This record gives sequence, C-alpha cells and structure tokens, in this order.
Amino acid sequence: MPEVASVAVEEANLLFDKPYSYRIPPEMASEIRPGRRVRVPFGRNNRLREAVVLGVGEYDGQAKLKSIAMPGSEEISFDESMLKLALWLRKRTYCPLYDVFRAMIPAAVTAADKTIRFVKLEEGGAAQNPGARWGEKTRKALALLKEGPRAAKEIEYLSGVSPASLKTLAKRGIVSFFEEVPEETKGSLRPPRAAIPEIPLAPKQEEIYLSLQEKAFRGECSFALLYGVTGSGKTHVYIKLIADVIRSGKSALILVPEIALTPQMIERFYRVFGDRVATLHSGLSDGERRREWLRIKRGDADVVIGTRSAVFAPIPESSLGVIIIDEEHESSYKSESSPRYHARDVAKYRASKAGILLLLGSATPSMESEYLARRGDYARYELAERYQNRSLAEVTIVDRKEDLRRGNENAVGSFLAGEIRKTKERGEQTILFLNRRGRNRRLICTDCGASVECPHCSSPMSYHATSRRLHCHICGYTCQPPNACPACGESHLMLDRAGTQKIEEEIEALIPGATYLRMDADTTGSRYAHTEILNRFRDEKIDVLIGTQMITKGLDFPNVTLVGVLDADMSLYSPDFHASERTFSLLTQVVGRSGRGEKKGRAVIQTYSPQNAVLLAAERQDYKSFYESEISLRKALFLPPFSSILLFLISGEDEEAAGLAAERFGRRLRGAVKAENATVLGPAPAMIYKANNRFRWTLTLRTADLRPLRRIAEGLQNEFLKQKENRKILLTIDENPCDVP
Ligand code: ADP
Ligand code: ZN
Repeated sequence: MPEVASVAVEEANLLFDKPYSYRIPPEMASEIRPGRRVRVPFGRNNRLREAVVLGVGEYDGQAKLKSIAMPGSEEISFDESMLKLALWLRKRTYCPLYDVFRAMIPAAVTAADKTIRFVKLEEGGAAQNPGARWGEKTRKALALLKEGPRAAKEIEYLSGVSPASLKTLAKRGIVSFFEEVPEETKGSLRPPRAAIPEIPLAPKQEEIYLSLQEKAFRGECSFALLYGVTGSGKTHVYIKLIADVIRSGKSALILVPEIALTPQMIERFYRVFGDRVATLHSGLSDGERRREWLRIKRGDADVVIGTRSAVFAPIPESSLGVIIIDEEHESSYKSESSPRYHARDVAKYRASKAGILLLLGSATPSMESEYLARRGDYARYELAERYQNRSLAEVTIVDRKEDLRRGNENAVGSFLAGEIRKTKERGEQTILFLNRRGRNRRLICTDCGASVECPHCSSPMSYHATSRRLHCHICGYTCQPPNACPACGESHLMLDRAGTQKIEEEIEALIPGATYLRMDADTTGSRYAHTEILNRFRDEKIDVLIGTQMITKGLDFPNVTLVGVLDADMSLYSPDFHASERTFSLLTQVVGRSGRGEKKGRAVIQTYSPQNAVLLAAERQDYKSFYESEISLRKALFLPPFSSILLFLISGEDEEAAGLAAERFGRRLRGAVKAENATVLGPAPAMIYKANNRFRWTLTLRTADLRPLRRIAEGLQNEFLKQKENRKILLTIDENPCDVP
C-alpha cells in the first residue's frame, strides 16, 4: 500500500514549482494513484489547495509530512497517458506544472457541483395579467418558458431579457425561481445510438479517402496533410473517415479554429452523427462544458469536435481512433497565454503514443506543414479542384490609388461598387470584407491628430457603440470618452467613422435600395447573434453582408457570387514574419466564399500595392507559387521551418528596471548559448511596448535544433527568478510564437 504521494500544487509560482510530499491516510491508500486529483493543506496557514498526484511510494519516516485532506473525483482525474502528456508539455511551455493540468481539464469540469438557478412559468401566471403589454424581450422569454423550465442564465442569453425583468416577473407571480443540481451531473448518460449514414464520394475524394483509411487502420502512427482548395470537399472526406473509425468502436477527435465562427461546419457534423457528437469550446456555459466533458470521458460521445484546448479531450489512449485538424494553418491553434502550446504539437504527441493517424487539412497549409509534407515526413494529398469542378472565383485586383486620383475617397471603390450593383441586379449576393479586427473605432483629435490612448498601455482605445464607452482590448480598461484631447487639451475630439458602419453608409449612398447586414464585434455581442445574422442573410436574400474577420471562415452560401476585400494592405505590412502567409491565407479564404454554388463567382481585392507578389498569387489563387517564393525567403532568412524560435519576454512596471533586466538577461543568454548553434536578437522593445502598466522587452533566439536549448532556457529562467534584482520583473518564454507580443 502506498504511504506517500508526491504532488503538483496549484498556485505554485515557478520558483517553488517542485513536487511536494504528503502522507496518504490509510483509508485513501487504495484510491490514490498517479494522476488523481486531491486537495492538500499548504503553507503556514494550511489552506486547502488543489493538487495532482505525480507518484506514490513508501514512507521512509525521515521527514514530518502533512496528509492529503481529500481525494477529488476518480472520474475527473488524469490517466497515465494524460499525466505523461502533461510532463512532456511542461518541458516545452516553461510554466508551473499545474498550469498545464489546468489547461487539460477545464475549471468548469473540476468545480464542485453547484446548484443552478432555474426559472419556470407559474401556472396561470400569465393569464392573471392578460392585459399586460410586455416588451419584445420579455415576450420572447415567456415564449421560451412555455416549453418548460430553463436555467435563468440561459433565458437571459436567449431572449436578451435582463435579470431585473425576470425578478419583476417573479414578483408578479408570473414566473418563479428554483435551485437544482444540473441534470448532466446526475450520473451516467445515454450512450450514443445515432445510425451512421452512407457517405458517397466523388472519384478523387474516394481515392484519397481509401489511402487515408488504409493509414487509419494500419495500427501505427502516421501523419498526413490534405491540401484542398476551398470547397473541394475536404470535410466530406473527413466525415467518411470518421464514420469508419466510430464503426470500428473508436473515437474521432476533430479540431476546428473557432466554433462560434463556423456554425455551419458543426451543423454538418450534427446532421451526420447526431447524438454521437460532443463539442468543447469557449462558447459553452460551465454546465454544458462539464456535461460534454463527461460524455466524452464516459464514452457516451465518440465524435469530439472542439477548438484548441479540445486537443486534451479525455478520450482514453486505447479508444482514440483518429485526430483531424481542419484549417491547420490557423494561428488560433497556438495558445498565447500560459501554457503556451500549439494544439498541432499536442495532437502529434497523442497520435504517436496512440499509434493512429493525424490528418491535417487546409486550403492554405502552413509553411511548416507543407514543408514537412514535401520533404516526405507527412503523406501529402491534394484536392486541386472544387467539388463537381465548380470553378474558383475570378479575382480582380484594383489599385485604390486610381480612385483617389479621381477624387473618390470612398472605401468601396468605383469598380467594386459597379460589381455590387450588377450582382444585385442578377439577384445574387455580395460579401464585403473589412480587413480589420472588429473593435476599431477611435476617438481622434482633429487639432493635433492624436488618438485617445489607454493610460496603462501604449495602444489606442476603441469606441464601442453598445456601451458608448472607450475600451482597451489589451488590459480591459474602460472609460467615458473624454471631452478634451489628452494630448493637446483642445476639445476637438471626433470618432473616426472607418469600419463597417462607414461601409454601410457608403452602400446606402452608392446602391440605393440595396439591403445590407453588418457582422462585427458590435453586432455579435450576444451568444447566438452570429447564427442569427447568417440565417437572415441567407433566408431574406439580403444583398450585402459587411463584416470583419468573422465572415472569412467556413461560410457556404451558394447565392454569394461576389466577394469584395476593401483593404488588402492592412495585414500585409506587419513586422511579423508570418504577415505574408497570413495575408495569403486570409485572402484565399475570403475569396473562397464566392461562387460556391452553380453560379460563377467573382472577387475584387482593393489595394494600394497592386504589384505585391503575395496579392498577385492570391489573385491567381496559386498556393503553389506562393509557397515556393515564401519558402525560399524563409530559408534565406533562417526563419521557421528552417529554424525554431524561442521568444523571451521581459516586463516590469518600472521602465528603467525592465530595460536593465532585459539587458542583463540578454548578456546572460548570449553567454549561455555560445557553444550552441543559435543566434540571439535583442533586447528590443516589444511591439506593444507598454501593456497593463508594464514595459516590455523581447529577445529572440533562432536555432536549427531546439532540443539542447530547452534545458538551457529553463536553467536561465530559474536563475532569473532567483535573482533579487528581478523580483518585480516577469520573464516568459514562448516556443515558436504565432504573434509578435
Ligand atoms: P471544403 O471542406 O474543402 O471547403 P466541403 O466539404 O465543404 O469542402 O465541400 C464543398 C461543397 O461541396 C459543400 O457544399 C459540400 O456539401 C459539397 N460536397 C463535397 N463533396 C461532396 C460529395 N461527395 N457529395 C455531395 N456533396 C459534396
Ligand atoms: Zn490598456
């Protein structure tokens, strides 16, 4: 019987991040095993902390040890393979071990069972108030409640009704509240029963599918890359492969970049696999997340679809049948906060341990994956034509300077406006893409030209129409718009009108009578807004959908035959070496929304640099030539995939101290890697020099072989933490970051 457990404790800072030993009380001895979650008394005040058992052994009687206070649930713990994965990942993410555990099992799952507040309709309640005239939201809420009791939060989400209005309804005896433990935590659930339909494939799809099937059932690990133009039928191939895998009694894990933005894709999986599907993503409520996690763990769902962290889905190694990563080039697969992992790396690890197929799919594979595939490390497949040989959109690049010369300063240029008009006349639809993140309206001083910046970060504040406030999307600070310019003191502040709203106004003026919808951060605040907007666009045949990044992915509307890209330059000139790759893939994606049905598609890309090679490749939708020119550039500059990058970010509230710490660390780093094949750049101020009141510096290390450097980096990190002068300085280390900090 084990007597002592070594555990990793939550909230341990890196310096004290080591295994701690605890006695195992005899009555727990049969339960406690590596991977089990427990609670232990910690520190001088013996506050209970969460911990994970790393190993067990016998008590040698030497040290006086505290005892484990209580075990966590057996069901919600780590099995041996997941425990090993955590230790593997810890070596690549330079963070406390418990951070890794926390990423692997979401907090919603480990939280102690809580009751949830439900609402129900009181019998005869509404009838007592026959004359009451409810607002639209309240009516919607009451209509939902007619179908049965629902969680109060859910009713608020779905109807938009405020908690205060619900309370008022309760006071008037129309509804009442009750508390209950949510259904999903009350024991075992229904095992999946949905029958799996036959999935017919076109000949080229079939050929690829058969080869993948052979790999999937070979009983050993293999990696494959499926390059297929947008609309070529990649998803159909995935679905057929998944059907085989679950028929054989195993589970399939499918990663997608952002579920909220790809509702159509998820719908498709539900249509085929019904209740066998479980989803894991950030749009779920805590209760839903817990339920989905348990369904996966209990084997009640065998098709698991989710975003980045779903790569940790609790499918036992022996049940895992295939992992598929759709749009594998997407940077959302890389976590930019601790633990800084890439889902593709974790998927590779899990696939190789389970001895299964990992399939990566994309219309614009990442440079890394395409490079490895061409080198023969991955099997490579190609769907070069759209399904049923539908043609790809015909793309025209328009030089914006020509409109400007003629005095036309509209964001929708004259050529594009003409195309929208013609499209409308044919009864077809247009998507207009504004190449910016949603929250971009700024308060600008017409006197000195400065825009209002966040007082804690070196970044402009954004105006949000819904709250009528300024927000900083780096630190979250918000304030009322000031009356006077903080830079010059004059009271000539104006909102810049750029962005989707301005486009709306232009469409109204340029194409009288055109109907339009806007999809951006302002219009998609509520949880179901995406789907609602997209449904209206389709069902009401709205002429123009105007949107930001949100509309680039996954949309499949056969009646859309024109796509306009308003400002292709926006992402091209960024200091990040990924800029070309991002722009090419973004343009390919958005252009790929056009002409997906029987009708021919067109696309217009507006730019100030019509000769840019990346745009020209996007015009021809020529991934191959884009890849070839970009890869030779990467090679010449010793950038990934020819090198790996370690990024060190050093920050502190005291500007001078942060700069000095960065310099000290830079000298130390250069000394430590002298014998290695590595180059170090910096320290340089970070792109966003001040964030959250901290001044930030970066050091970038490039190397052909990361392995020997991991240990060096970890050693330097420990040394840094121990130095007194670094007490208020933070150091984070990121392997192959996707974004410049
Ligand atoms: P991708 O994932 O490569 O963008 P999709 O799988 O979405 O491509 O296919 C594009 C369109 O063609 C979709 O509307 C899809 O339903 C249709 N399609 C693809 N393959 C088939 C098939 N074998 N049978 C019927 N429809 C198909
Ligand atoms: Zn800020």
